[in-house]
Amino acid sequence: QVRKKEASILCIGLDNSGKSTIINRLKPANARIEDVVPTVGFNVETFSTGKLFVTAYDMSGQGRYRNLWERYYKNCDAVVFVVDSTDKLRMAVAKEELSQLLNHREMKRKKNLPVLFFANKCDLRQSCSAVKCAQLLALDRGEWTRGGSPVHKTASAGPGRPWHICESNALTGEGLQEGIQWLTDQLM
Ligand code: GDP
Repeated sequence: QVRKKEASILCIGLDNSGKSTIINRLKPANARIEDVVPTVGFNVETFSTGKLFVTAYDMSGQGRYRNLWERYYKNCDAVVFVVDSTDKLRMAVAKEELSQLLNHREMKRKKNLPVLFFANKCDLRQSCSAVKCAQLLALDRGEWTRGGSPVHKTASAGPGRPWHICESNALTGEGLQEGIQWLTDQLM
């Protein structure tokens, strides 16, 4: 029997990006809720997926709850950052959200914390590609120097956070497993 790795994962992103839908889709079918209610504050879900036993904190994108999030920063093992790839207007807001998160003192300490991005809603015609989302989030610059397909195909040995971006369709689950596999590889 394979022992599962416990992982505490913060799922962050603006409201309406698809966080609840993604978490719901990752849960085993019998635990899936059919109609996900939009998040207020945050929800906690525990489930296993592949080799991970996950505690997912689904954080609302609403800034007024930010002080609620902070106490969870200390113990988290990874961040899943969800963006609505059709919402170009708010991509700058998402970028700011991301930067606030990673500039928090608890997060600054976790230099090797893996960050998985879902460029969600890739099924919609007006969606941006993963490469485009990575550019809009400025993942090709600054502290994001290591890993990170598809902008950086190969991992370099330089400093920076390990990251990865996947296009996803949370309604069908497309793209989610690729992301979770990457996260699993980072955490095992
Ligand atoms: P949250 O506020 O980030 O938790 O977002 P939700 O999970 O509540 O999703 C917001 C809305 O987007 C809902 O109406 C979802 O059904 C829809 N949605 C989520 N993911 C996708 C996706 O990949 N494609 C499409 N077309 N709609 C999605």
